[in-house]
Amino acid sequence: MGKQRLALWLGQLLLCGTPEAPCGECSNCRHAMDLTHPDLVWVFPRPRKDDQADAAPDEVAANLAEAVSERREALGLYAAPPGTDGIFVSGVRSLVREAIKPPSVARRRVVVVGDAEQMARTEDAAEAANAFLKLLEEPPAHLTIILTSSEPGALLPTIRSRVVSIRAGRLSDAEVRALLSRPEVSAFLDRVDKDSLDLRVGRAGGAPGSLLSATSLAAARENAQRILAAASGSRGAQLRVSLAQGASGARGSYSDTLDELTRLLRDRVATSLDAGDGAAARRMARGIPAVERAKVRAAGNTHPGLLTAQLVRELAGMS
Ligand SMILES: [Zn+2]
Repeated sequence: MGKQRLALWLGQLLLCGTPEAPCGECSNCRHAMDLTHPDLVWVFPRPRKDDQADAAPDEVAANLAEAVSERREALGLYAAPPGTDGIFVSGVRSLVREAIKPPSVARRRVVVVGDAEQMARTEDAAEAANAFLKLLEEPPAHLTIILTSSEPGALLPTIRSRVVSIRAGRLSDAEVRALLSRPEVSAFLDRVDKDSLDLRVGRAGGAPGSLLSATSLAAARENAQRILAAASGSRGAQLRVSLAQGASGARGSYSDTLDELTRLLRDRVATSLDAGDGAAARRMARGIPAVERAKVRAAGNTHPGLLTAQLVRELAGMS
């Protein structure tokens, strides 16, 4: 529905110093729209490897700045982060640290927290969670905090009780159509499917962001198919598919790729069984634990390229 877009717009409204806020022309507005305003802080879930508990605050802030600039370069079009991403201990600490700073150029400071239900839970981050709750309870006078969530029920009750909730409803089909007709949006969606505008409006069901996630799932599925095909290919093919995993922008979706790989192997087991080929089904089934092991390593700090190189070797052994 564009909840984070709305939150950022509210941020712009609060930072704009003119009577016609948001005027869209003053320097506060321009920097807010460009996501470069020092008093508009946008925090959202990141892969765990970019958010180690012992990471230096500057390192966490630099990682987040890079993620924000990726979203800016993609014109604000991004898929929902996978469920394995989160705002972990160092992310929450950095958020609190940024929030309490006095405004640097505007009169206020605004912190937008996207997918807030993926924020560290008290059990793994008591200290950070308490600092955040204290911030929500007694925010400095200059500060506005906006949380967005697709699952407000999953927020800690201690957070829910400290905020005013506003429901962002689904968009009308006419609004979705207007958004999807924009050249940059249709170009983004054209990269994956060739669906007509009518079909996309129908698939969006009032929540156009879901089309972006479908896009990333389709990309993950294609990537999983390439990995599986490379496993039965030459050494060169295996190396190429492994090297391709390190590309920027593919990082967040690697866990989606592994999920799709599991699904693909299960499908092939079922197809082989239906065809009465028990031997082929057993071979495919042997690949599933290898993918599960890769998922465990992917949650750590291992580079997707290295993981894929090991995984294709193990998958190659099954045929
Ligand atoms: Zn303005």
